[in-house]
Amino acid sequence: MKDRLRNHALIKRINRAHILNTIRLDSPIARAQVADKTGLDRKSLTNFVNEFIAEGLVEETGTAQQGGMGRPFTMLGFKKHLVMGLEIASGSVGGVMMDLYGKVHFSHRIKDEGINTSSAEMLNAVKGVYRRLKSCGEVYQGVGVSVQGVVDHEKGIVLEACNIPSAVMDLKSALGKFIVEPVHIETSSMVGALAEKWFGMGRLSEDFIYVELGGGIGAGIVSRRRLFRGTGMHAGELGHTVVERNGVLCRCGSRGCLEAYASEGKILEEFRRTYSMRIGSIEELAELPRSKTGKILKDAGTKIGWGVGNLINLFNPNLIVLGGRMIDVFGDVLVPAVSRGASASSIKVCMRDVSIVASEMSDPIVRGAAALVLSRIFEVEDF
Ligand SMILES: [Zn+2]
Repeated sequence: MKDRLRNHALIKRINRAHILNTIRLDSPIARAQVADKTGLDRKSLTNFVNEFIAEGLVEETGTAQQGGMGRPFTMLGFKKHLVMGLEIASGSVGGVMMDLYGKVHFSHRIKDEGINTSSAEMLNAVKGVYRRLKSCGEVYQGVGVSVQGVVDHEKGIVLEACNIPSAVMDLKSALGKFIVEPVHIETSSMVGALAEKWFGMGRLSEDFIYVELGGGIGAGIVSRRRLFRGTGMHAGELGHTVVERNGVLCRCGSRGCLEAYASEGKILEEFRRTYSMRIGSIEELAELPRSKTGKILKDAGTKIGWGVGNLINLFNPNLIVLGGRMIDVFGDVLVPAVSRGASASSIKVCMRDVSIVASEMSDPIVRGAAALVLSRIFEVEDF
């Protein structure tokens, strides 16, 4: 009996998600077309639609005549709700307000290096972006928050954040002091994967991996359209896979980790050591001729490729999307170098299935943060 009730509840959730996604992808759409696309009978569909209207999620957007004959169709669409996504990144806090179709209506970003080191400044910046966006419209369902670091997403605690030490805290409780809506916190590599899955190159892919290259190196693994998290929810720590046995010491305490060679900070360090030049940021490095920076970047890209090759062997994805600040600035050198490294370290049967590409999204993380909320509305299970 219990099983039957559970199955019934699950089927209801699956049908609910199916209808909502049909409206999301094909709106404006007539009730009759939703019934055809979902395969549900008219009576069940009417019950669901009445439920959505009562919840204030869906509305009848008017009527349309098709073919000039018969009764006009009632069209369905979402009410003009906006969800919020926030991004706590190194030196900046950004945010967007997005409708239920995924369109960004408002965005705002505060840049301040003090965000990285002072918790008060970081929280103040988040508060500033949140309040500014909230003045544009009511927030529906909740606020998704991305943080560059290791996050316990269930508790909303940031366990580690090498580039933003100010964020290491019970972030959910701290944000709850001024954010009145439910807050969902997630690590940026997972959020990047979610962004690619919802809006980017992973839209049509069942199994793909997003690799974030920036201050840290992480992977968001999507398997059968779901994020793969692992037991402790820390799956995807690509930066701490070993690429040099007995290599240089990594900040995690191990030796030879990928991140100890190919993170933004390590590439800058290697450049300063080789050329004895004072270069403060990756943007400054980008201004130098490639004849100076090329070899260091290629070597780093090859090592990243070794790590990516291991992912290809383990997960057999059809797509690897490279994203993050390093790709924004040095994608032209890094993408081919990563591809070469991956070819050298993965077996042919896995490598022939996969494309390795640079992300084409602008501002993916902040959009992915908003998708943390959309996933809760449109997907059946934890994502
Ligand atoms: Zn490490």
